[in-house]
Amino acid sequence: MRGRAYRALLLKYDILGLPPEVQQKIPALLRAQEEFRRWAAEWAKSGGKVPMPEENPLRYLAQKFVHAWNMLEWLRAHAVKRGMKVPLILDAQLRLSDERDVSRGVLADVPKRKVRVRKLGTGTIALPLGEDATKQILERVREGAKLVLAAVWVGRSRGSRAAKLYIALVFRREVEPVEPKRVLAIDLNALHNGITYAVVERNRVLRRGALRPDVSKIVHMQRRAAELDSLCAKRGDPYCKMARSAKSRLWRLLREWEVGAARELVWLARKRKAAIVVDVPDDSSMRELKQDNKYPAERKALLNFGRLRRLIEGLAEWHGVPYVEARLFSTVCPRCGAKMQELPERRVKCAQCGLEVHRDGVPAMWAQRRFDELMRLANPPSFSSPDAYIAPLLCPLMEGRPPPGEGSRPAPPTSRLAAS
Ligand SMILES: [Zn+2]
Repeated sequence: MRGRAYRALLLKYDILGLPPEVQQKIPALLRAQEEFRRWAAEWAKSGGKVPMPEENPLRYLAQKFVHAWNMLEWLRAHAVKRGMKVPLILDAQLRLSDERDVSRGVLADVPKRKVRVRKLGTGTIALPLGEDATKQILERVREGAKLVLAAVWVGRSRGSRAAKLYIALVFRREVEPVEPKRVLAIDLNALHNGITYAVVERNRVLRRGALRPDVSKIVHMQRRAAELDSLCAKRGDPYCKMARSAKSRLWRLLREWEVGAARELVWLARKRKAAIVVDVPDDSSMRELKQDNKYPAERKALLNFGRLRRLIEGLAEWHGVPYVEARLFSTVCPRCGAKMQELPERRVKCAQCGLEVHRDGVPAMWAQRRFDELMRLANPPSFSSPDAYIAPLLCPLMEGRPPPGEGSRPAPPTSRLAAS
């Protein structure tokens, strides 16, 4: 069964860095955004009974929004029910050579390296299309994807608090699901211990590995940012500015690492024809870890792997790789189910049956024990939320966001395994 998968490419423009003729148009864009959000909130609250606005640009925006609402789960689930401020949805055209401009809201013009935004009552807003974005667009095209819509909004970035103009180009493609033969068990530890993974085929482990960010560099950058923060409190600028840029450098470093790790894992799953099974710690074990005073405060930032989990999930769906969340306990004995005792050097021992192993090896043992059950959950893969890849990009960026790292998008109930 083929499914549809979505993926968004996010373009960000610092408003103060835009040419004056573009900057002039931002106040009108903000007005349209505000008016539209008021209408959208009413419309959603009334269950779609509020009439469509009569005049453009609101009428155009409402029509495109309702269309996207029916198509995209994240819009229904996050943007509106959770009270988030919705983006402006526009129809979009991708120009790869000399196709006629069919005057949609957004024209991504690859040969001219420009993105044109129209229909917002501001006059055409022309923005540059960078090298990296162009490369990614061409990659989506090679994968057989089509540009189906664009989301546009003005908001503030979390790190620098600078106002930015965001354009998300949303691609869609038909994807043939991978029929899994194996399980790629992924254990999302607190990131300082790295992500450990194992490719499991019934009762054999075919491959094991770990991915670790550069923890000492991260901790160093965190300390530097904290120093600058306290200088900012005492002496103001330029330290405040330096603190903000230190934090956004740190954020980018983590983000880049996460994107790379997600790619590597999904690539491995495809190569080994494996379903991805992610062990997601439950809330209580996370709370325990966060409240543990022995746990260095600066490392707590590394506990936020919600974004990484969503990246893996979205990328897996884009490539038709089945994705399941299940508990693969690191500290529960996979042989007899008793709670295991933690020993030095991350080893664990079962007091009941005597099994003693490195804790990173335990999730793979759980994957072996539950192999048939996990394969049933992964097969046939569900496309219940084919737009997962959009959510991680957009949600943290829109104001009124669910905090990153919180499990804001619950997996469908069928793909969760209860603790046994
Ligand atoms: Zn045991």
